[in-house]
Amino acid sequence: MVTDTYRHKGLRKKLVDLLKEKGIKSEEVLKAIGNVPRHVFFEAAFVEKAYQDIAFPIGAGQTISRPHTVAFQTELLNLKRDEKVLEIGTGCGYQTMVLIEMGVKVFTIERQKELYDRTHKYLPSLGYNAKFIYGDGYKGLPIFAPFDKIIITAGAPTIPNDLLAQLKVGGLMVIPIGDKVQIMTLLEKKSPKHFEKTEFGEFKFVPLLERKEWGE
Ligand code: SAH
Repeated sequence: MVTDTYRHKGLRKKLVDLLKEKGIKSEEVLKAIGNVPRHVFFEAAFVEKAYQDIAFPIGAGQTISRPHTVAFQTELLNLKRDEKVLEIGTGCGYQTMVLIEMGVKVFTIERQKELYDRTHKYLPSLGYNAKFIYGDGYKGLPIFAPFDKIIITAGAPTIPNDLLAQLKVGGLMVIPIGDKVQIMTLLEKKSPKHFEKTEFGEFKFVPLLERKEWGE
């Protein structure tokens, strides 16, 4: 059982205020952040940390993204209810929960078995349902394509072509591009071969790994 106390709610309200100060404007995104318990991914001793704007280790050498980064990417997606969204890099599932709160249908891919195993059981137990896939995000999910929106939650050295192909015309992809630091990039698919690109400054992510780097 997950407890969500007045203290947790209070800390979350402060986080929402902080994200507003940092420039997040979408009421829907702020409401989603305000609804999702982030402390469930933290040990009780670290509950304060759960609602600070910091990334944090979540095991298997991975991190839970900063709330501001999650809010920023979610805002860029300009989500409408019932849209089909593909997420690459499920991790612990915090971003997934925020997407679900936005009322969209989420398909999420994770390449680390340990994280996939944990998250695809844990989120539904909290009432957050999505289609969880253990696999390679570079390949996307052709059988469920096309998607209205695609979000990549790891730093990509280049834009994966398979993902571009799986985006609807008129759809949006938000992807942090780069090696050591990443430029948050929004791509709008104008036609099957034409994408309009907008850049939004530097962020820091763990790398999106290619299969040859997994060592499996
Ligand atoms: N969305 C998470 C952040 C996860 S960090 C959150 O809300 O906190 C990025 C995740 O991408 C890691 O879990 C990592 O294992 C995963 N990842 C890296 N390369 C991948 C790939 N090729 N396919 C799918 N997932 C990948």
